[in-house]
Amino acid sequence: MRQLVRESAKGAPIRTVPFRFLRAWLRIGERGYSGAGQTGEADLYTLREHRLPGGRDLLLYGRAVHDEAPGLALPAEPSGAEPHLRWHPLQGEWVAYAGARQARTFLPEAAACPLCPAKEGRLGEIPFTGFEVAVFENRFPALAAASAAPVLASVETAPAAGRCEVVVFSADHTGGLGSFSLDRLALLIEVWGARVEALGKTYPYILPFENRGEEIGVTLHHPHGQIYAFPFVPVRAARAAGAQAEAPVVARLIETADSALVLDDDGEALALVPPFAMYPYETWIVPRRRVPGPAALRPSEIEAMARLLRRGVRRLDGLFGRPMPYILIVQTAPRGFENSFHMTIEIRPFLRDANKLKYLAGVEQGSGVFLVDVPPELAAERLRAVSPGGEA
Ligand SMILES: [Zn+2]
Repeated sequence: MRQLVRESAKGAPIRTVPFRFLRAWLRIGERGYSGAGQTGEADLYTLREHRLPGGRDLLLYGRAVHDEAPGLALPAEPSGAEPHLRWHPLQGEWVAYAGARQARTFLPEAAACPLCPAKEGRLGEIPFTGFEVAVFENRFPALAAASAAPVLASVETAPAAGRCEVVVFSADHTGGLGSFSLDRLALLIEVWGARVEALGKTYPYILPFENRGEEIGVTLHHPHGQIYAFPFVPVRAARAAGAQAEAPVVARLIETADSALVLDDDGEALALVPPFAMYPYETWIVPRRRVPGPAALRPSEIEAMARLLRRGVRRLDGLFGRPMPYILIVQTAPRGFENSFHMTIEIRPFLRDANKLKYLAGVEQGSGVFLVDVPPELAAERLRAVSPGGEA
């Protein structure tokens, strides 16, 4: 269904990808999608593919065609210690080593933010003065196609031949999933779907995620997430997919959801605290219909997920009156589990009280048993008491 619509001045192709279904944008009532229903012109997102120095991909997704001529980008990073994998014989899983990551940018001043659009006299990762959602290959990847494994006598090794991408949610340096327009959140969900689908052709497991907050080691404040494409299926993903192949765990969770645990029911999607939450105030956004990943969501489901995602983050931010540090994970089907896996978006908050961080400490690290001091029913009650604001 993809079609090439034009070439940019520098030869970068701009492709327009038709939506699979007609969108009911007018229901959202944002961003003036007037006439979308009549002309169908808004039923498109555009994808511009651009090459960065060193041959890295930069993908610009948006509602509007992006045809600005590129400026100067940051130079390619000289390849340092190449990432590789080592097998942990006791845990039965791979550990990834990436020495070059120590050199990565650490909390730069906003004026030097590498994720902001590059302006005259200031370099950035994205050599344009504006964009909507940008995806580019990480300059400091933990997984890279060029990876080569050292031969070691004491441990089994393998190339970390995956791919790491950065997803920049907005050209604005501030804001986040709790403050973006619903259309931007919908676009982001579509981008997750597009990347999971594209990378899934090569790699067996794709993990889109967002780390938010200095408390959990975020080095850049600009709203962004990442996507890791693994050359293998990690143990936890394989275990979760295996459980879903044996029984429709997520469907049952939705069917039997105790109203005490539900935060929002949007018909086509649900926000809830799972009864087996591993983190205090853990929040899941789940499509009611089983789909293996965001690419299979219908437009109305994307809209529902976008609404619930924003409400979920707003509740977490409102809970202690400060931005909640969290890890957001888009759980997608590993290869081979597409017919049984039910995707979820999981938010794992890292504050258990206004000034108390949830640490994975001795018990969790030593035994793998999580201690949670806020029962899920109480967490849901407290989250429901926070107003997520209107839909504007
Ligand atoms: Zn920035």
